[in-house]
Amino acid sequence: MVTSGRNLTAAEMNQEAGRECLTCGKILRGRSDKKFCDDYCRNVYNNQLKAVTHHLVRNVNHALGKNRRILDELAGAGSHVTRVSREKLLEKGFLFKYITHLYTTRKGATFFCCYDLRYLPLEHDWYLVVRSGEE
Ligand SMILES: [Zn+2]
Repeated sequence: MVTSGRNLTAAEMNQEAGRECLTCGKILRGRSDKKFCDDYCRNVYNNQLKAVTHHLVRNVNHALGKNRRILDELAGAGSHVTRVSREKLLEKGFLFKYITHLYTTRKGATFFCCYDLRYLPLEHDWYLVVRSGEE
């Protein structure tokens, strides 16, 4: 068994851990809370984060827009309540994981909403599609 002569100081432990710039990976010197070697590396890192967020938001917005178009088309014009199968929705590219909000009626039925359109799961993979304010 090997026993060390003394405990390491915090600074020495940091050095041992090899703190690296989050962008370029260079070993950092100086203050222990430093994350980047310079402003350039900090900017590159922050811009990459923003780009990822922007990409994610754009994809979700796109999916919601598409879901809305599909429901809009299926709901038809006027105040008709439409029944549609899950298969039909999937065929059109509907993505069930994206909704804008939930709406619960006084009778306790919870609709999944996509902007101004709503749908309610029925039995056997059928859905009721309704325009907002018309149920
Ligand atoms: Zn760097």
